[in-house]
Amino acid sequence: MSLSPEVLSTLAAAIKRWGRELGFAEVRIADIDLAAAEPGLQAWLDAGMHGEMDYMAAHGMKRARPAELVPGTVRVITARMDYLPPSQDADWRARERARLDDPQAAVISVYARGRDYHKVLRARLQQLADRVRNEIGEFGYRVFTDSAPVMELPLAEKSGLGWRGKHTLLLNRDAGSMFFMGEILVDLPLPVDAPADAHCGQCSACITACPTNAILGPGRLDARRCISYLTIELKGSIPEEMRPLLGNRVYGCDDCQTACPWNKFAQRATLPDFDERHGLGSASMVALFGWTEEEFNRNMEGSPIRRIGHERWLRNLAVGLGNAATLGARGDAAIVAALRSRLDHPSDLVREHVGWALAQHG
Ligand code: SF4
Ligand code: SF4
Repeated sequence: MSLSPEVLSTLAAAIKRWGRELGFAEVRIADIDLAAAEPGLQAWLDAGMHGEMDYMAAHGMKRARPAELVPGTVRVITARMDYLPPSQDADWRARERARLDDPQAAVISVYARGRDYHKVLRARLQQLADRVRNEIGEFGYRVFTDSAPVMELPLAEKSGLGWRGKHTLLLNRDAGSMFFMGEILVDLPLPVDAPADAHCGQCSACITACPTNAILGPGRLDARRCISYLTIELKGSIPEEMRPLLGNRVYGCDDCQTACPWNKFAQRATLPDFDERHGLGSASMVALFGWTEEEFNRNMEGSPIRRIGHERWLRNLAVGLGNAATLGARGDAAIVAALRSRLDHPSDLVREHVGWALAQHG
């Protein structure tokens, strides 16, 4: 399809308007030249910092070459959607940090307390692509959300959705980092947007705040030490030396984000999908640890947490319940009883973590 520069320019403006109508905070456009990101990707993979995330390596340099992934691609439409639950008030960062000292509290990453963002964003991006097709007819495209084959962050950065903070996440001057991202690879030569300037300056609050020293330096993250990786991506046993560092963070970690001064500008979600469900923002570890597999599957239906399954859920909670000992609840009767109730769990993984946890209370 051949469209004039004028038509493409009008179409680009319309795509951004439609994106906002669909609930995205911002939609922008990048070209697909990620040559500058390739050496960094290769070095990160070579150093093994992706841990067990083999899919990162499996796609190799294709990740940095969108046209190899989807032939015909010449542009990427990038989009971001704010997710801070509307129930979070101005003091949310201080409150989240305070819960880390509560030996009973189950701390679940803020992004995971509502509906699975993959589904929400994918559906909305598909609607955006449908509107483009209604306007111009058939065109080549493919939608991605937090998807391994695409180097989402460099593309978002290139399009000007924000800059890479020292914690490696994308930061936006008007919205901090509490947003999801997705993209549409297209074969339309739309006019591209300019990248944003970086504004971390001399700050290093995220590096200091990281409880596991996973941020080795500005923009250098060792995923194997990151609590998000250890509690979500890692399938097997959590390395023993890392367990005490997890505290009561039982699904993901927001410390580098709550420490970041730009997140005072984090925006509330406009879609109800990201409202907190099942009281996950104030739940206790003992209560969540008591869920049967059937309860876990039912309660977590449509949640990103369901992806890790009941076994890893119990593994994480066992570590948190063990760490309650150092948070001031050593020997707490309800915690010890909850752990003992899982000593005969059929999973070796669960029993081993429960045994470790009980030893912390010993
Ligand atoms: S998510 Fe937590 S563990 Fe991972 S880099 Fe950020 S602060 Fe560190
Ligand atoms: S905490 Fe500071 S250094 Fe880290 S991402 Fe935010 S502004 Fe950048």
